[in-house]
Amino acid sequence: MNKKNAGLEFAKSCRKIIFIFLPFFLISCDKKISPQFQTSLGTVCFVNLYEDGKKSIYDEIAARISEIDGEFNVNKDDSEISNVNKNAKISPVKVSDDFAFVLKTALKAAEISDGDFNPALGKLIKLWGINTENAHVPKLQEIDEAKSHCGWKKIIFDEKNQTVFLDDEEMSLDFGAIAKGFSADEIAKICKEKNVRRAIIDLGGNVLAFGKKSKNEKWNVGIKNPDAPESEVSEVVSIEEGSVVTSGNYERYFIQDGKRYHHILDGKTGFPAESGLKSVTVICGKSIFADALSTAFFVAGKEKSLALKPLFEEKFGEKIEVVFIES
Ligand code: ADP
Ligand code: MG
Repeated sequence: MNKKNAGLEFAKSCRKIIFIFLPFFLISCDKKISPQFQTSLGTVCFVNLYEDGKKSIYDEIAARISEIDGEFNVNKDDSEISNVNKNAKISPVKVSDDFAFVLKTALKAAEISDGDFNPALGKLIKLWGINTENAHVPKLQEIDEAKSHCGWKKIIFDEKNQTVFLDDEEMSLDFGAIAKGFSADEIAKICKEKNVRRAIIDLGGNVLAFGKKSKNEKWNVGIKNPDAPESEVSEVVSIEEGSVVTSGNYERYFIQDGKRYHHILDGKTGFPAESGLKSVTVICGKSIFADALSTAFFVAGKEKSLALKPLFEEKFGEKIEVVFIES
């Protein structure tokens, strides 16, 4: 073998070694890591994949959360929802599958609850500015004006062509009451694809327990005491698996002249909902339904919610349980 051939042979065997060792190297990079936190969707997102907590799966979940935030974040100028809002009364906008699915669910919730759940409250939410530096009680005239641009029936959704048109120049969509639930379901999808055995997904209190905790144990999810949310749990819900979502008047609020103004608005009055409840917890297989319904029921109040529950179960095809904490 001349010198040149020997060099070639050496290079070939090096390549083989690299090919043999690279997969091992990549596998060993995909090591187990601790549960992950991420600030996104306007809250802290926590995911624990327990014994299947590989870095690659956490990374995929983090990327999916960021993707959904990029679609539904009303504070991002280049988000999909901002684009739809900017095109109000101008032109229909072709939307993604995620957007179409969330909007369709939101419209169903709006229809069944007769607008207690309302995905078109953008203008009113901005006016109150709750959870921003601008939080204040607006003038009645301003509230009336904003309220007149929250008619969710003016959301024209063409399901076949997957386009959305807002038939009111001043209207804007806000998916704050449903996006976290959708995200939790999407994370659960990834867990399923990756054969994760069990996981806890907690997106700022929007909890989804994926898989069974263990053979003999159920997951225990605490419901906060609305009067002492930082320190006390008023009830514990035990579930095999599924989602537990709470909407409450203690989550985001400001106090003006001794009165508390919280972030769940009643589109009919233009004010924070006052339905005699401090919190509503919905337990349901799908987190998107639990999220939408906890908000809808908080606005609707106990009596109306209990009357609507069977209809929601029928339309969503899911069993629903509710825990009310009354004022
Ligand atoms: P959180 O997001 O704090 O868990 P919710 O799921 O109840 O609580 O959603 C409240 C958010 O949804 C508000 O911050 C606002 O963006 C939006 N929102 C407020 N009132 C309504 C309503 N009646 N229908 C739909 N969305 C609402
Ligand atoms: Mg909600």
